Amino acid sequence: MRNIYPNIFKFNKKNLLRAQKLLKKNNVIGVPTETVYGLAGNAYSEKSIKKIYKLKKRPKKNPLIVHYYDLKILKRDAIIDKNFEKLYKKFSPGPLTYILKKKSSSKLCNLTSSNLKSVAVRFPKNKIIRSILRNISFPLAIPSANISESISPVRAKDIIDDFGKKINFIFDGGFSKIGLESTVINLIGKIQILRPGFISPNEIGKVLKRKIIISKNFKKIRSPGLLKRHYSPGIPMKLNCKKNEYKAAFIVFGKKYKNKNNLFNLSPKGNLKEAAKNLYKIFRAIKKLKYKKINVVKIPNKGIGVAINDRLKKASR
Ligand code: AMP
Ligand code: MG
Repeated sequence: MRNIYPNIFKFNKKNLLRAQKLLKKNNVIGVPTETVYGLAGNAYSEKSIKKIYKLKKRPKKNPLIVHYYDLKILKRDAIIDKNFEKLYKKFSPGPLTYILKKKSSSKLCNLTSSNLKSVAVRFPKNKIIRSILRNISFPLAIPSANISESISPVRAKDIIDDFGKKINFIFDGGFSKIGLESTVINLIGKIQILRPGFISPNEIGKVLKRKIIISKNFKKIRSPGLLKRHYSPGIPMKLNCKKNEYKAAFIVFGKKYKNKNNLFNLSPKGNLKEAAKNLYKIFRAIKKLKYKKINVVKIPNKGIGVAINDRLKKASR
């Protein structure tokens, strides 16, 4: 089949080298990760980082997550401790982002972490992004590949919805396995979760042998994921609904819903991981169908359901 999107590329050796070359030359490219698709740029290059902020229309005070292959380059940029090491061993590579102290000798461009003394770091698990990171000499800043506040992309084509041809190289890695942004944990001072995600406070607590809470209002460290409105399809959304109204899109969860008009089931099986994976896919479908209102049933607030409810709440503001 002919590729109708000239800026979407399949993964092979030739394209891998091409992607790495683009990054070395301070270009920004679209990449798959296991959480959502991202816009990747050299985290040491002010030129690349400026491009990312401009493309996303992201406020400069919202820092980006820096992605590494492993600890080798990370150790040049950030200070690590025992807690980090324990979590790294258990959860990385994977969907966990750590807030660490930045080294003063770090080559990270100041704008990457919005001039903060801290830096958010992650080690993504997706094969394609790991191949890219493996043999370049700099880490990649990778925020989600969407305009600030809007729906995160979960496949290559979604990036084109927001950016058209502005991104001229996007790797196709199929649908994102998780489909929801990483868990963000602060390891400076009070250890707490700044943004819930696939990895739960309980799992982290078991490794660190302490109770881990999700921060309610983490003011000292600025966090884009904590912006009031975020992840939004830009349509009024009502949560915890028992039934639908005339002509509204109805987002439901579980077995008891029969397939009807306007019904979008996050997981007919009632599986929360599946629901997380479908959330942004369904937001995008509803937006394309030009619905004027969205009603959502109550989603169980356990496991990854906590992260789903966090995103729903932010999308409904
Ligand atoms: P996004 O790029 O939209 O997935 O969001 C990035 C996330 O990284 C935010 O939710 C923040 O919680 C977090 N973040 C990035 N840098 C920092 C930092 N230096 N301090 C605290 N949080 C950060
Ligand atoms: Mg984002």
